[in-house]
Amino acid sequence: CGIVGYVGPNNTVEALLSGLRRLEYRGYDSAGIAVLDEQGSVGVRKRSGKLARLEALLEQNPLQARGTGIGHTRWATHGGPTDENAHPHLGDDGKLALIHNGIVENFAELRAEAEAEGLELIGETDTEVVAVLLGREVARQGDLEAAFRTIVARLRGTFTLLAMHQDEPGKIVSARHHSPLVVGLGEGENFLGSDVAAFVSATRRAVAVDENNIAIITPDEVRITDFEGNSVEFSEYEVEWDA
Ligand code: GLU
Repeated sequence: CGIVGYVGPNNTVEALLSGLRRLEYRGYDSAGIAVLDEQGSVGVRKRSGKLARLEALLEQNPLQARGTGIGHTRWATHGGPTDENAHPHLGDDGKLALIHNGIVENFAELRAEAEAEGLELIGETDTEVVAVLLGREVARQGDLEAAFRTIVARLRGTFTLLAMHQDEPGKIVSARHHSPLVVGLGEGENFLGSDVAAFVSATRRAVAVDENNIAIITPDEVRITDFEGNSVEFSEYEVEWDA
């Protein structure tokens, strides 16, 4: 239901939680974050229920992040509002984390393919199937962006998707299809959000990602392409916001 992504030098867990707090108004049943931790591995914390439950979990079991992270509030459509079904979801090898707003309509067919290949699925969401197929595709192609384009082209339904991989720290890839996606431009840091609330406390400079586009962010660069990988021109605007 709500999405935030962060790449940059600042406290990554705090940037994600701050974005998720501002997205709470949309309503949700679960919340979670994934970051690249001090060891450079993907660390995940997620809980059904309110953001306060995720914050309590992070107090008990903190995450030290290295500057790449994604956060999600879920409004369950496929699979009940359980801890397992909360996002982010991981690839089979644990190296990739993915969050999703929307519905993957062809998930049953994709799930059958994942199961036939022996990929492990823990929950019941449409989203987790995308995470395991993307994880396998990155392992095959050795490139997050190329793998992401391959998988996105196979999805039917509605989606805003964000993914990060431990072999490509400092990068988040994202896609938009009948679901909103905005980039926030910072100084040496960049953001993604399902709306500007996700980053407005840090920057007012935004780029609206158009329908059927892919946005790739690093701390110093934003690139937008279509689903085939052709570059797309974009311009920024100033967010008006009464804090
Ligand atoms: N369909 C996904 C799920 O049920 C995403 C729901 C959402 O947009 O929050 O987990």
